[in-house]
Amino acid sequence: MKPLRALYVDLNSFFASCEQQEEPRLRGKPVAVVPMVTDSTSVIAASYEAKKFGVKTGVRVGDAKRMCPGLILVAARHGPYVKYHHQVIEAVDSVIPVRSVCSIDEIACELTGTQQIEERGRELALRIKAALRERVGEFLKCSIGISSNFLLAKIACDMQKPDGFTVIRDDNRVEALSSLKLQDVPGIGPRMDRRLRERGVTTMSELLARDEQQMRALWGSVLGARYHGLLQGQWRDFEKPIPPKSIGHSNVLPPSERNHRDALAVGHKLLWKAAIRLRMAGMMARSLSLGISYMGYEFDERQSRFHETQDTGFLLKELNRLFAGSPMMKRPVKVAIVLGDFIPEEQHQFSFFENERRSLAYKAVDQINKRYGRDTIYAGSLHQRLKSAPTCIAFSRIPGLEEVDEEEG
Ligand SMILES: [Mg+2]
Repeated sequence: MKPLRALYVDLNSFFASCEQQEEPRLRGKPVAVVPMVTDSTSVIAASYEAKKFGVKTGVRVGDAKRMCPGLILVAARHGPYVKYHHQVIEAVDSVIPVRSVCSIDEIACELTGTQQIEERGRELALRIKAALRERVGEFLKCSIGISSNFLLAKIACDMQKPDGFTVIRDDNRVEALSSLKLQDVPGIGPRMDRRLRERGVTTMSELLARDEQQMRALWGSVLGARYHGLLQGQWRDFEKPIPPKSIGHSNVLPPSERNHRDALAVGHKLLWKAAIRLRMAGMMARSLSLGISYMGYEFDERQSRFHETQDTGFLLKELNRLFAGSPMMKRPVKVAIVLGDFIPEEQHQFSFFENERRSLAYKAVDQINKRYGRDTIYAGSLHQRLKSAPTCIAFSRIPGLEEVDEEEG
C-alpha cells in the first residue's frame, strides 16, 4: 500500500463565494461573476446555486440568463479575491504547513508521519474546513483530496464538489480513475486529448493499461513516463523547472507604428509579459536591456542595472528611462527587451525601495491571468494595446498598480 502523502485543497466556486462572503444579499442566490455586466461576455465563475441551472465558467452571459432566471451578475473585483486568497492560505497553514500554492484557490500540503494514516488525514481535512469557516468565512467552502501523490490528490479533490472529501488509495485507484474522462486529468487539455485519440486511447481505462514506454511514446516526451508513474500512484515531488537565465521578448513594428511613441508602447507590452514570466519562474531580475533596430540596419542597445526586483511598475519606469536615451530621430523597426542577471526570489535581500504589498498584488494578478487567459487583468494603460484580444477584461484600476497607470498617462 503506497502511503497517502499528498493533500490537496481546492476552494469551491472561489470568486463567486468571495462575493457571497462579502455581500450578504448574494448569499444563497444564483450568482455569476462576469468581467463586465453585458450580455456579450462570458461567466468567469458561478455560485453553486447558479451551477444547478448549468451556468458555469465560459457560458455566455446571454445564455446564462436564459438558463437561470433571476441570475445575479456581479462584476469581478480584484481586491476581495486577493484578500481571501491570503486568508485561505493562512487558515490552511494553521492546520498543516502549506507546501505549495498552486493557484489563486488551490493549495497543496504534504502529509508526513502519522498524518499518512487515512483516519488522521480525514481529521486534518475536517480541521481545514473548520479553519476556513472560522478564520475566513462560512461561505468559502472547499473540496479536499488525499492520495499518494499531488496529481491523484487533485483529481480526488475534483471528484466531490462542493464541500467534498475524497481519498484515492491503491485499492480504489483504478476504479476511481476509470470513471473519468481523459480531460479530467490535470494537464490533459483538448490538444493532448486529440493526440491520445489519434493514437487509439479514448478512455481512461485504455490509458491506464499502457506501460511506461508506451506512455512516453504517446506524449512524445519524458512527460509521458512521469504521467505513467503518477497515475500508478507513485510519489513524485513537484517538478522544479530549470530556472531561466534571462527572459526576453521582441516585436517587429508594423509600418504604421514605426515611431518612437508606438515603439515605447510595444516595449511596455513586451516588458509586462516578461515580468509575468519572471514572477512565474520565481526569479528576480537585476538588469533590463532595451534593443531597438532602426531603418537602415542600425541598432541601439542600452542596459540598466538595479537591485533585484520583479516589480512591473519599477521595471516600466526603467524602460522609460532607457527609451528616453535612445535616438529619437530615427525610425524604429523592431523592439526587444531582455530581463537578466537573475537570482532566485528565496535569495532576495530586502530593499527599502520596494513595496511588498504591491509584489503580492502582482502575483495574485498573475494567477488569475494564468487561469483565465493571459489578458484577463492588466493595468488600464495596456487596454488600448490589448483591446482586440478576445479574452480581455478591462480592469480600469488594480490596487497597487496605480503607478503603472500614471506612467503612460
Ligand atoms: Mg476551485
